[in-house]
Amino acid sequence: MTVTAVASSSHEEIYRVEETSVGLLGFIAIHSTRLGPAAGGLRMRPYTSEDEALTDVMRLSEGMTYKNAAAGLPLGGGKAVIIGDPAKDKSPEPLRAFARAIEGLEGRYITAEDMGMSPADMAVLAEETRFAAGLADGAFASGDPSPITARGIFNAIRTARAHKHGSRDLDGVTVAVQGLGHVGWHLCKFLTKAGAKLIVTDIDETRVKMAIAEFGTKAVPLADIYSTEADVFAPCAIGGILNAQTIPQLKTEIVAGGANNQLATAADAAALHDRGILYAPDFVANGGGIINVASEIRRIKDREGFVAEKLQALDETMAAILTQAKAADVSPAQMAIATVKAKIEQASRAA
Ligand code: NAD
Repeated sequence: MTVTAVASSSHEEIYRVEETSVGLLGFIAIHSTRLGPAAGGLRMRPYTSEDEALTDVMRLSEGMTYKNAAAGLPLGGGKAVIIGDPAKDKSPEPLRAFARAIEGLEGRYITAEDMGMSPADMAVLAEETRFAAGLADGAFASGDPSPITARGIFNAIRTARAHKHGSRDLDGVTVAVQGLGHVGWHLCKFLTKAGAKLIVTDIDETRVKMAIAEFGTKAVPLADIYSTEADVFAPCAIGGILNAQTIPQLKTEIVAGGANNQLATAADAAALHDRGILYAPDFVANGGGIINVASEIRRIKDREGFVAEKLQALDETMAAILTQAKAADVSPAQMAIATVKAKIEQASRAA
C-alpha cells in the first residue's frame, strides 16, 4: 500500500491512500487536532476524479472541526473518502487496506460511517484498526447515529421557531422535508408526534409512498420543494441546495435541516439573511450524530446521559448563535463560524 502525504496550508495532514492490488484509492484529511483527535466519517462515492475526492475530503474535514467544536466535544476535525461506487465496488479487502492506513496514523484520525458506509463496514475496518467507531456490537457500540441526528434537528427547528415566535410548540406548524432517508425519516416521526404537518419529497418514490402511508403527509415533485408554502424547510438529503437558484424561490421563514454543507457558497448565507429567512447553521443543527459517535470513541458508560446532556448544550449553542447573529445583524452561519473559531482559539491558548 502507498500512503503519500499531500501538501496543504489549510490542513494539518492529508494522505493519499492507494493499494492497486485491491482497487483502493482514497484520501484521509486531518483538518485540526487542536481540540482533540480528528474525528469524522468515511465516505465512499463514485467521484469522477481524484481532485474532486480531494476537494470533498478537505471541505468535509474542515466542517467536522466546526461541528465537533459546536457540539462541545474534545475532538478535532477529520474525514476520509474512498473513490468508488458503494453498490458495486465495496468489498472487505479494500476496506481492510484503508483501515491499515488509518491505524498508521496512531489515533490522530478516528473514523465512523458516512455516505456509502454501514455499521457492518465499520466492523470490517475494526479488524485492522482500533480507530473505527459507529459499530453495531461491542461494549461501547453506538450503532446508527441518525435517530440522534434527527433529534438534534428537531430541537433546532423548535429553537428557530422560538427565536421567531417565542414558542417551541410545533403543533400545526408546516415543515417541508427534503429527503426521507435515515435522518429525514426519523425527523418526520418526531415532527408528526409534535403535531407538525409535513410536506415531503425524495428521489426515491418508494420512500415517498411509505411516508404518505406512515405520516399521512403531502408530497411534492423534487423541484417544487423549494417553492412550497410552509413554515420551515428542512433539507435532509444533499449539500449545496441553498444557492442562487433556490433561495429566491423559498417561501418559508426558517431553514433548519440535517444535510451537510447546505449552503453552496458563503454568499448564500447572506442571501438568506437579506431575505429575512432564519437559517439554523447545518453543522450545529446536525451535530447529534457525532455526539452519539463520540460516546463510543470516549467509551462513555452512561451513553444516554452523555447524549442527552450534549444535545441540550447543542440546543443552547444554537439559541445563543441565533440571538447573537440577530444582535449583530449578521447571518447565523457567519456567527456560528465565528463562535466555533473563538472556541478553538481559546482551547489552543489554554493548552
Ligand atoms: P440517506 O442516504 O439515508 O438519505 C438521503 C435521502 O435523500 C435518500 O432517501 C435519498 O433518496 C434522498 N435524496 C437524495 N437526493 C435527493 C434530492 N436531490 N432530492 C430529494 N431527495 C433526495 O442519508 P442520511 O443519513 O439520512 O443523511 C442525510 C443528510 O444528512 C446527508 O447530507 C448527510 O451527510 C447528513 N447527515 C447525516 C447524519 C446521520 O446521522 N446519518 C449526520 C449528520 C449529517
